[in-house]
Amino acid sequence: MLATTETLKILIVDDNQNNLLSLHSLINEYIENVKVFNAESGIAALNTLMKKNVDLIILDVQMPEMDGFETAKIIQSRKKTRHIPIVFLTAAYKSEEFKKKGYGIGAADYLTKPIDTPQLISKIQTYLRFIQQERQHNRIELALESKVNERTAELLESNKLLQQEIIERKQMEEKIRWALEKAESANLAKSHFLANMSHELRTPLNVIIGYSEMLEEDANDLGYDDLSPDLEKIGLAAKHLLSLISDVLDITKIEAGKMEFFGETFAISQLIDEMIQSVQPLMDKQGNTFQATLSDELGKMYADATKLRQILLNLLSNAAKFTNNGLITLKVTSTSEQGKKGFNFIVTDTGIGIKSEKISHLFQLFSQVDSSSTRKQGGTGLGLVITKQFTEMMGGTISVESDFGKGSTFIVRLPEQMKLSQE
Ligand code: ADP
Repeated sequence: MLATTETLKILIVDDNQNNLLSLHSLINEYIENVKVFNAESGIAALNTLMKKNVDLIILDVQMPEMDGFETAKIIQSRKKTRHIPIVFLTAAYKSEEFKKKGYGIGAADYLTKPIDTPQLISKIQTYLRFIQQERQHNRIELALESKVNERTAELLESNKLLQQEIIERKQMEEKIRWALEKAESANLAKSHFLANMSHELRTPLNVIIGYSEMLEEDANDLGYDDLSPDLEKIGLAAKHLLSLISDVLDITKIEAGKMEFFGETFAISQLIDEMIQSVQPLMDKQGNTFQATLSDELGKMYADATKLRQILLNLLSNAAKFTNNGLITLKVTSTSEQGKKGFNFIVTDTGIGIKSEKISHLFQLFSQVDSSSTRKQGGTGLGLVITKQFTEMMGGTISVESDFGKGSTFIVRLPEQMKLSQE
């Protein structure tokens, strides 16, 4: 690793011209890659030092005008030359006295005259090696330092980018949170508004329904039979409107997390018997046949009976709506999955059926598979959404299979004991 090819510069200072010359040629002869400068006095030495970069100074102590020690003091007082090692040259008889003084000043070393050539050469070589090593070391340090600086700059840059990314992400998150809060509060406000409105609409509607029924009875009693069909139409339209409003109210309650469930234990067969009674008129309307089949010993279940009625009524009235002169069946079976008892409520019709690509939209808000046919049948597109929500909130699932043009089957599976899954 030693850069031996690099030239090192030595300054020799001696007032004796002969000494200077012999030292000069000695060094040149024995040591490679050196350049030697001569100075005949302290002043000349300082002059050379101002112009040249020197690596080592060999300095005679006894010189007229300015001696070696004074010269060394000045050299060491200057920032540019302070670091240069100085080897003092002194006559042997003065050696002890000067040695002390020389080291006191900070001499690197000291040699006695007359010069012992091998000693001089070996000392100079040692210094030069040391200086070279130092230089090499400095170079490595410099390289390392610049590497470190480079790497630090890189790190700082990537850190800056990272910080920026973090800030941007935080800002984004803040925006999303803000938008979400806004959307949520807007949605909640909408739900409250709809819930209130639905409630307010139902009251006058119930009055209309009540009075139209009373009027119909009065008309019959008073012999105005020809008025009955019109009054009946008013009543039916009002009832239809009422059911639409109920759907809207249900959806808003579900969305606002305010739908309440009341669990009770009831006999399934009894609930189904009541259902059969109430849906029969719907079935008759379009000439449909209705059959209900119950497995033996269904027993009891614990659930919200009103919600279950609503689920079945939705499915059965849809079946009736979308089937003409066909067959509609309701089948109830008991199931057992992984030791857990439950029931399947299966509603099948032989009606218009649903195209397979439309099935996935069935349970989405306001989705009506075929707007034209539905418009004819009436409806809000909310029934199946409510049905699915009620089923799932009681711990069940709903599925549908349909053959377009041939009919559909809706299956609601509920556990024997409802498990409320309301948020
Ligand atoms: P709607 O109040 O409009 O009937 P639903 O959510 O109950 O709302 O039904 C959504 C749509 O799904 C209906 O408009 C209809 O197009 C289709 N659909 C539901 N049940 C049946 C069925 N049994 N046969 C054919 N299409 C059906």
